[in-house]
Amino acid sequence: MDVEEKLWHAQYPKEIPTTIDYDAKALHVYLEESANLYGEKKALYFMGKEMSFSEVSTQAKIMANYFQQLGIKKGDRVAIMLPNCPQAVISYYGALMAGAIVVQTNPLYTERELEYQLNDSGATFIVCLDILVPRVKNVKEETPLKHMIVTGIKDYLPFPKNLIYPFIQKKQYNIVVKVEHGGDTHVWTAILEKTTPNYQQVDVDPIEDLALLQYTGGTTGFPKGVMLTHYNLVSNCQMSDAWLYKTKQGEEVVLGVLPFFHVYGMTTVMNLSIMSGQKMILMPKFDAGDVLKVIHKQKPTLFPGAPTIYVGLLNHPDIKKYDLSSIEACISGSAPLPVEVQEQFEKVTGGRLVEGYGLTESSPVTHANFVWEKRINGSIGIPWPDTDAKILDMETFEEAEQGEVGEVAVKGPQIMRGYWNNQEETDKVLRDGWLLTGDLGYMDENGYFYIVDRKKDMIIAGGYNIYPREVEEVLYEHEGVLEVAVAGIPDAYRGETVKAYVVAKNGYTLSEEVLNTFCRKHLASYKVPRLYEFRDELPKTAVGKILRRQLVEGDKEKQLEE
Ligand code: AMP
Repeated sequence: MDVEEKLWHAQYPKEIPTTIDYDAKALHVYLEESANLYGEKKALYFMGKEMSFSEVSTQAKIMANYFQQLGIKKGDRVAIMLPNCPQAVISYYGALMAGAIVVQTNPLYTERELEYQLNDSGATFIVCLDILVPRVKNVKEETPLKHMIVTGIKDYLPFPKNLIYPFIQKKQYNIVVKVEHGGDTHVWTAILEKTTPNYQQVDVDPIEDLALLQYTGGTTGFPKGVMLTHYNLVSNCQMSDAWLYKTKQGEEVVLGVLPFFHVYGMTTVMNLSIMSGQKMILMPKFDAGDVLKVIHKQKPTLFPGAPTIYVGLLNHPDIKKYDLSSIEACISGSAPLPVEVQEQFEKVTGGRLVEGYGLTESSPVTHANFVWEKRINGSIGIPWPDTDAKILDMETFEEAEQGEVGEVAVKGPQIMRGYWNNQEETDKVLRDGWLLTGDLGYMDENGYFYIVDRKKDMIIAGGYNIYPREVEEVLYEHEGVLEVAVAGIPDAYRGETVKAYVVAKNGYTLSEEVLNTFCRKHLASYKVPRLYEFRDELPKTAVGKILRRQLVEGDKEKQLEE
């Protein structure tokens, strides 16, 4: 690609290079390098406990050694089903050191979702929280899983929080977990006690070898495993580092509210912090009050997030009681950032909040506004270094005229290898190295891009991706459901909310309550429809395909009239 010729490069400040000489290194090498360089400097903070780069690196090596003792081979898949906690970082780097491919698993997954992901990825190991053990055990026999490594939040809490936490856990989740070390079950604390960090170095080719299978969906129902190499992830971190050029290596504190089991938090918080020696603050779940307290006390300077996170903080009744002035730079992604939210957040923090864009298939970031220079509100910004982007005419797939709306296509070192074991789906989105994003947008005369809608029907509610067909498939399993269409309708707070349009079978009377109870059994709570509409029939095309868009448009019109 002739990087010099791109329209948007004229906008780049002199500090940001248009092209970068990327390191051909495996991701875990950065943890070892940071441990050598920063040693006892704190790498992370978690609910009152801090760990240094050396400690994180040593424990990752212990896990790598243990994985190897259990027979892990290069390319084996290790599922990690953890919220943001030290174990999420340690097991991730430990698995990579052992040559494995990490499969991030959302801790909210139901048994059905977990079983699907373990089978599709072929994961033979899982690292999970103690409260998730019953769920994992219930699906284990139906999957290739061989070993389960179990850890608890209390394992990394300082005294006396570690003693109190099991009682809190019992009250919150109504689960008392007692896990014995032995057989196919391995207890984290016992591993740390008994194992040395002397793992066998594995030859990893950063350009060819996969680091990650990150599950994401589409219109085809069940999620697909996005294959990301070490190089994909490393290059996206290096681009991010170049973009944030005013930040100082080893001196920033990064707020880790975005979950690491999603590629956005994994890259912009975890991998980038480990690579550049920044301390990260791990928050296992988003609670606006807790986040405000942590900002006040721990003074983070960088805060990657999503619009609903910033909105949640701004709407907290006690926001004025906290000092948020440490925040210097925030990049918001995953959904459109309302200008009002951007301005209000900047006012309360005194820092900068800019919009960016990306997707799992691109590790994830491809575009962002400049953090310290000119930005255009409402735009996703301009392509990152070495990243090319264009708009394709929706019918001809030829490059559209500047200003015309079409499908956004992107190209660069951060673009995935394809979907795991799914060449057919890969061929639909990867053409000559270009990734077709499924998003509709346009570019202005200065090379700034704008997203106008999603081509695919994916719903994004509260920052979570929801695939209508997956929800529909569950509803279709209810004996009283004849037809169903699920779609996202605009929602002021969550961006979109899940709505199900249902036709009942003759002789059945369905209610919202009945379907809700049914969905809750089979789907993570964020996927369960919040709204139901019962109809006599659903609009369809000539070949019988239900016209989801038409249903949504009807609702949007009603909202406008109200
Ligand atoms: P994911 O694969 O979970 O990262 O989701 C990627 C999708 O999120 C993209 O294809 C877009 O539809 C959406 N997205 C990400 N950033 C933005 C943004 N700034 N504005 C609008 N949509 C966005």
